[in-house]
Amino acid sequence: MTEATTPQPPGRTPHGASQRASGTTQPQAPLRCPGGEGQPPAPPFRAPPARPSEAPARAADVARRLVKCVVWDIDNTLLDGVYLESGDTPPAANPAMAGALSDLASRGILHAIASKNPPQAAAYAAAATGASFAAVECGWGAKSGALARIAAELAIGTDTLAFVDDDPYERAEVGAEFPEVLVLAPDEVAEAAGWPEFGAVVVTDEARRRGEMYAARRHRRAAERAFGGSREEFLASAGTQVTIAAATMADVPRLHELAARTRQFNSAGRAVAEAELAAMITAPDTDVVTVRLRDAFGDDGIVGACVTSHDPDGTWTVRLLMMSCRAMGRGVIGALLAWVTRSAARAGAREVAVRCVLTERNVPLRLALTGAGFRAGPRDGVQGGEEAGAVFRRGTGVPLPALPAWVQAPGEPEQAGGGAAGPAGADPDPAWPAGEVIGELRQILAGLTGRDELAGLSAGTPLFGEAVALDSLTGTLLLREVERRFGVDVAGTDLNLDALATLGTLAAFIAGQGGS
Ligand SMILES: [Mg+2]
Repeated sequence: MTEATTPQPPGRTPHGASQRASGTTQPQAPLRCPGGEGQPPAPPFRAPPARPSEAPARAADVARRLVKCVVWDIDNTLLDGVYLESGDTPPAANPAMAGALSDLASRGILHAIASKNPPQAAAYAAAATGASFAAVECGWGAKSGALARIAAELAIGTDTLAFVDDDPYERAEVGAEFPEVLVLAPDEVAEAAGWPEFGAVVVTDEARRRGEMYAARRHRRAAERAFGGSREEFLASAGTQVTIAAATMADVPRLHELAARTRQFNSAGRAVAEAELAAMITAPDTDVVTVRLRDAFGDDGIVGACVTSHDPDGTWTVRLLMMSCRAMGRGVIGALLAWVTRSAARAGAREVAVRCVLTERNVPLRLALTGAGFRAGPRDGVQGGEEAGAVFRRGTGVPLPALPAWVQAPGEPEQAGGGAAGPAGADPDPAWPAGEVIGELRQILAGLTGRDELAGLSAGTPLFGEAVALDSLTGTLLLREVERRFGVDVAGTDLNLDALATLGTLAAFIAGQGGS
């Protein structure tokens, strides 16, 4: 089933130096180990493994995404030995793996640990390798489960994970559970680092600091869990600052990187060439804005962008909308959509239209559009392209969406009027169908948000309104849970996600789809 790679014995000869080429900082340069400069290339430690096209991870011929995070085993992978069997002196870091950690981190690739060890082993591995790990899963369960939790923690897809483990059983288990994960033995890492999956398109400042940003993210999430108030209150208390500004030519590499890397919040569903982005910035009838995000926990730099063209018929068309998943749950995409709508209204446009390719991956974007009042009608299907798509529209009539006070943007006063828009939930609470479903949905919502009061939410309260403030993060988790518990794929059948208007409409939708 898996490629026959012999597990490396503890204490094997470090072989990183042999696979090192005195190097460059090109994204696809071979791995280099710290302190290895100037050494001549030596013969490989062992015959380099064939690129494992026959391996289970590649057998399905899955269209490979760029790897965003490498998940590492510890024993006989990051360390030259077994942590728990080494007595008072834990094994040293494997130099080749330490070199790979450093090289891949410099390309903006995150690292995580999935280990059948106590948490102290991960802390030791981090110290021994000098690497920082954006997520750590230590425990004795299946490694596939650890990978699923890491993907959820980092808000990235499992198709952007690579997994390195010396144990063929662990590799086979992960490969069987997640065929989309790039599964590697330790001695394949050096060669794999030259594959396109690890080839950073460009190395931007944001990419170089990605590990640091995810460390800040872990602290932010811990603080949010401990915070008693609403998410909106937490964002304000964390000193959230969103800055929307006209893009310049200096931003083109980062825009290009966002276009290549974003999936969950990407309206175009394809990479956009740097030249195309540059042309958009200079085009007279097109606006390109960048969105920067920072708070007390850290500076995320440019997390998103939006390209808008102004059509003579009074429509502002959003041709490209993209946002890093790091910004998920931080109010940024909602703020951007609100600002675009307000700007269009100020300019006298009567409508904002967002052209959006429809993929399984960009449901979070559709959630954000729904939450911001955008709807696609039957006339809005995009025909003729390779990918299904739709145009989501919103009028610019009153009431215009409010902009949180922590957003700085062109055309907006220094302190825009804060406060969430939307009614607070007049509650007719008629005899809703599927009463038990509503009860279960209440429990799901309370569990997902950690807000016990939502267990008593009335069926007619708007989920996107102030009381619940469903956003793309919570919405995605809710949809996933609805699919798991009721077997109903809401996003797959309800283009506009209107089912998410209230608990009552969601329960009725689930009942109508035969879910129970
Ligand atoms: Mg191991």
